[in-house]
Amino acid sequence: MNDTIRGGCLCGAVRYEISGAQTVGGDCYCDDCRRSSGTAFCSHMGVAEDGFAVTGDLAAFAKPADSGNLVTRKFCPTCGSAVVSVNSGAPGLAFVRASSLDDPETFAPQMTVYASRAPSWAPPPAGRPTFPEMPPPPDRPDAATA
Ligand SMILES: [Zn+2]
Ligand SMILES: [Zn+2]
Repeated sequence: MNDTIRGGCLCGAVRYEISGAQTVGGDCYCDDCRRSSGTAFCSHMGVAEDGFAVTGDLAAFAKPADSGNLVTRKFCPTCGSAVVSVNSGAPGLAFVRASSLDDPETFAPQMTVYASRAPSWAPPPAGRPTFPEMPPPPDRPDAATA
């Protein structure tokens, strides 16, 4: 898992490299993820923010989540592809959109959150921890994988 993980936006203006492995990750069916995704949910791959190196300009949109934490979603201003988000409640982590990975198999979803909001046409997958809303905040962000 020490290989560099690469990804970028649709037009190629934004590229990134990740050194280090996924720390936490899953699918989120919250309303904000749905609206920004183009489908029913977003797949977020959490990695150490200091191991996430991006080239190219990103536009950003910040909005408080249900938790009150500020979620800043970053995207390519040219093609609109979602690339990464950061969450004030999870300092030190970058949540890469799995959709932007060069090799989407790099992502290993560990949980599904806000599953109660999934539309009938995109039910959450079975076989992993699934929470109707956001699970209680852990002491450490990566403890949520337990
Ligand atoms: Zn682009
Ligand atoms: Zn969400």
